[in-house]
Amino acid sequence: MVDMVNTKEILLLKYGEIALKGLNKITFERALTRTLEQRLSKYGNFEIYRAQSTIYAEPKEDGCDMEGATAAAAKIFGIATVCRAISVEKDMDKIKEAALAYLPRFLEGKKSFKVECKRSDKHFPLTSPQIAAEVGGVLFERFGNIAVDLRNPEITIRVEIRDFAAYIHAGRIKGAGGIPVGTGGKGLLLLSGGIDSPAAGYMMAKRGLEIGAIHFESFPYTGERAREKALTLASILSEWCGDIDVRVVSLTKIQEAISRSCDEEYFTLLLRRSMMRIAERLARQTGCGALITGESLGQVASQTMQALAVTDSATDMLVLRPCIGMDKEEIVTLARKIGTFETSILPYEDCCTVFTPRHPKTKPNIHRVLEEESKYDCAALEDEAAMF
Ligand code: ATP
Ligand code: MG
Repeated sequence: MVDMVNTKEILLLKYGEIALKGLNKITFERALTRTLEQRLSKYGNFEIYRAQSTIYAEPKEDGCDMEGATAAAAKIFGIATVCRAISVEKDMDKIKEAALAYLPRFLEGKKSFKVECKRSDKHFPLTSPQIAAEVGGVLFERFGNIAVDLRNPEITIRVEIRDFAAYIHAGRIKGAGGIPVGTGGKGLLLLSGGIDSPAAGYMMAKRGLEIGAIHFESFPYTGERAREKALTLASILSEWCGDIDVRVVSLTKIQEAISRSCDEEYFTLLLRRSMMRIAERLARQTGCGALITGESLGQVASQTMQALAVTDSATDMLVLRPCIGMDKEEIVTLARKIGTFETSILPYEDCCTVFTPRHPKTKPNIHRVLEEESKYDCAALEDEAAMF
């Protein structure tokens, strides 16, 4: 009879209580539900509903891609854990039958296991330890060669007795954590083709920001492939952050003008100030409350404290620099985790690497910077570049 047991899977998505602090819970839950509906739609028809601080994603047809849906759900900010489970009627015999039908594929080849139970429906006649013992018992009977190890099991089976049903799962995946995208407003990411800026976008989306992006290019000094690289990075990032609208802006004329008219030592600083001002305009037009960059203190000449102050003073807008205190190695580890690293290291020229000064100012004086800035018509050139 075991083969007749329905072992249709469902996803249980749990959000961390900590993330709820200070946030309007219902806004948070709605944002999560919306994001899930959108992202899981690629993997089949799922019904999404919520109860007891858990969101349920239930396949509504055969052939839903559960692997794909699980992986996609684990990239949604606001979700602390993802469990791929089966739902069973709240009846002890049915639970045991379903456990025997569903769990062999997970227990195969394992040396030890334990069963844990969580009973949020207190009307269920057995206590959690009793349920765990019964389910553990039938599994042990079936798989005589697997030991019960309550301290350090190779696999933990969980049974949850909830409002609608009982759920059985053989492991949970760590979710992306953080706060649902969009619940904190929107930020504009200055997205280069490098390693740091995609990581910066990821970190701010994790804290609840929807992400827009601006990419600067300098054709013909930079090529088609550099642009495509940035667009590819945005698309990888969107698996975590949701859709990202990328605006590509040409800095060619600005770079040529600075190079022609200003002291070479100030080139990068002047360019970065222009980038901030153009980005600020796009941010205001697209409802962004902050700029986001991948700058990290001390990484290059334009990222000393003094240089950052000069860049910062070009805009009134809040600038978020989540990589500021991170070592390159830490940023690389994050870039690998989010999947952008391999693309970031493709060797295409970025607009910041053309015309770079041999001896950039590392402790610039703002008065000298402004003096240099007055030597070219940045306002007009920025107007032209910012025709979004
Ligand atoms: P990344 O910092 O992304 O690895 P990078 O190290 O080449 O790229 P930096 O010269 O360190 O870039 O620039 C610092 C920050 O300025 C970047 O993190 C990014 O936010 C922004 N930036 C640099 N180049 C560009 C560009 N071409 N388009 C948009 N933003 C850029
Ligand atoms: Mg950098």
